Amino acid sequence: MSSGGATYEELFTVMARASVGYSDARVEIPPDANLEDPVTRLGVALNVLLDDLEYRHRQAESNLRLLVEERTEAIRRREELISIAAHEIYTPLTSLQLVLQGLRKGIVADDPQLLHRVVTLAERQSRKLAGLVEVLLSVGRSQSNTPMILKREQVDLVALASGVVELFAPDLQRSASKMIVDLSMPVVGNWDRHRIEQVLTNLIGNAIKFGEGKPIQLTISSHAGMARVVVADEGIGIAPERLPRIFERFERAVSASNYGGLGLGLSIVREIVRAHGGSVLVESAPGEGSTFVVELPCEVNATR
Ligand code: ADP
Repeated sequence: MSSGGATYEELFTVMARASVGYSDARVEIPPDANLEDPVTRLGVALNVLLDDLEYRHRQAESNLRLLVEERTEAIRRREELISIAAHEIYTPLTSLQLVLQGLRKGIVADDPQLLHRVVTLAERQSRKLAGLVEVLLSVGRSQSNTPMILKREQVDLVALASGVVELFAPDLQRSASKMIVDLSMPVVGNWDRHRIEQVLTNLIGNAIKFGEGKPIQLTISSHAGMARVVVADEGIGIAPERLPRIFERFERAVSASNYGGLGLGLSIVREIVRAHGGSVLVESAPGEGSTFVVELPCEVNATR
């Protein structure tokens, strides 16, 4: 629109068009306005434009408010994650340092049984640390939308699970839960050993944590090229309204102050299982316990 040649009529049309699509832009034309008068027309056109600007301003303000709320929530979560992670890292680290100090002072050197216990403890703690690193990595992955990369190898799930159960022996003793294992036949597949170990550790760890000292059943079987892991406890269970979201990140069905935890363990279980082309589901009722079922194709690209 060149200022030289444009008529009021053209100005009006251009300005009115600028507001097309903004349905709540109001045009207030005074009843006694003389629309034949070019100055009145210009006034009306400016009104349209002003209303439109106000509308856009309100939209931008509310979008900004939403964005700020989202960012604040993300920052709050990140801070919470850092503080809980730091806390959870501290315990295994302290215990590892004690083990190393003991070894350095030669306290356990003459006692093979004690040495074995201490090394097993160190192994458990370093696995806990590895698990926490995996948690932090998964947060990073989700923020940058990077898929999980698997290092597949031939793995016997039953042998792997036996090792995990062994490492939980002290926790089981402390919680008074008895672990009933049905790990009779080897179940071999092409999986990422550390990641599958993580799945077992998270599920068994939760069963002990929420199992109220009651028996926990671990069953591993295979059928038609699919491996199946069932971890069933008889503990506190999960409320039906929380169940659909339990595999989401940062979801907890209990308060962090009572049970601790980052609310990330199950989301990592699902991420790992899905990366392997498998599935995980849960059945649970409050006060009756929870049963987690993981299904994994034994071979890459295996279909069900
Ligand atoms: P967290 O590290 O907080 O335990 P998870 O992702 O592993 O995080 O679990 C999320 C939530 O799911 C837990 O806070 C708990 O409320 C619920 N949950 C997980 N496993 C069990 C279980 N075996 N029994 C009862 N509740 C469970």
